[in-house]
Amino acid sequence: MRDIIDGFLKFQREAFPQRTELFKQLATSQHPRTLFISCSDSRLVPELVTQREPGDLFVIRNAGNIVPSYGPEPGGVSATVEYAIAALEVTDVVICGHSDCGAMTAIATCKCLDHMPAVRNWLRYADSAKVVNEAREHQNERARVDSMVRENVIAQLANIKTHPSVRLALEQGRLALHGWVYDIETGSIDAFDGAHNRYVSLAEHPDTCAVPARLGLAA
Ligand code: ZN
Repeated sequence: MRDIIDGFLKFQREAFPQRTELFKQLATSQHPRTLFISCSDSRLVPELVTQREPGDLFVIRNAGNIVPSYGPEPGGVSATVEYAIAALEVTDVVICGHSDCGAMTAIATCKCLDHMPAVRNWLRYADSAKVVNEAREHQNERARVDSMVRENVIAQLANIKTHPSVRLALEQGRLALHGWVYDIETGSIDAFDGAHNRYVSLAEHPDTCAVPARLGLAA
């Protein structure tokens, strides 16, 4: 814990003074344009990977970068999605999975999660990706997990479209959805191309989108 506190002291000493104007602006308002939904994994840092500053990203992180489909039960993810879309009016949502994901590995390799009942129940929101992945042939376990990570991002893109706030923003053409998979070792990102139903390199195809704005309902 000491290194965390030392980090805070360094922030106060070095990072904060470089951004006094920014924090002054941010003190009373925020206008992030993007809702970034990623795994809680310590190795994926949204602001680092996208080189964003405070105030730029509205972030949800949880085990498996999961968005439960809309329902009557109260849920932190659902409330945060709704706030981002309806109140902050973000223009883009990124759902970002990553390589070597523990949650997706547990699903893909059918690890017994009886000793972690909360995790087991939570990961059921990835069931549609699980059955698709299980029906496929995989060359080895690594390929099985990589495929599960990708299918899960696609499943969560479908889940988020069930939220009324998202549905409305898509209908009004003011929201785009993005599905990414970040590779920890290489620092690269593959993005889901919704028009062609495949993943492509984001570096090579920076305009790739799962659901572009204006075409929300058609996609
Ligand atoms: Zn993960």
